[in-house]
Amino acid sequence: MTPLETADVLAAIASLDLRTIGEADIIAWHAVIGDLDKTLALEAVVVHHKTNTDRIKPAHLIGIAKQIRRDRAERENADAEARAAFEDHRDQRLGIGGNKALGGLPIPTIGQPVWPAYEVNDAINRPCPHCRAQANDACVDPSNSRPTRMPCLARLTGKTDLTDTPESRR
Ligand SMILES: [Zn+2]
Repeated sequence: MTPLETADVLAAIASLDLRTIGEADIIAWHAVIGDLDKTLALEAVVVHHKTNTDRIKPAHLIGIAKQIRRDRAERENADAEARAAFEDHRDQRLGIGGNKALGGLPIPTIGQPVWPAYEVNDAINRPCPHCRAQANDACVDPSNSRPTRMPCLARLTGKTDLTDTPESRR
């Protein structure tokens, strides 16, 4: 920050502990805390006066400012980790390669067939126009032939989706 901003920080301190500030104080403080930015320095002044009855010295202010910076960096790391974990989890949930047969619904593709879903609209009683599963068989993921939890949308609706041809899936 600039010497003028250091003077502002000192003015804030003076209004809290009623000290008098001269030019020499500003120069001396600026030599010590001039590396900080004004917002951080003012935050440190506030934290000090919330937690400590001692007259604030530059070392207090610097110590608190470092702590604030450390806390923020840790919080940002924790946020980034949480975000990464969430995204990993979401990718697992969605399955790799998306789920076009389910109309892009965020439902896990592969797993024990959810038979009640196959009962909907009597889907189970007809062969699947999408993945070619036979009547009474679970639908399969065309890329690996494993049974899918939900019937394909085309089988569920009983309508062949003209845009969803085997060619368009490649
Ligand atoms: Zn199917």
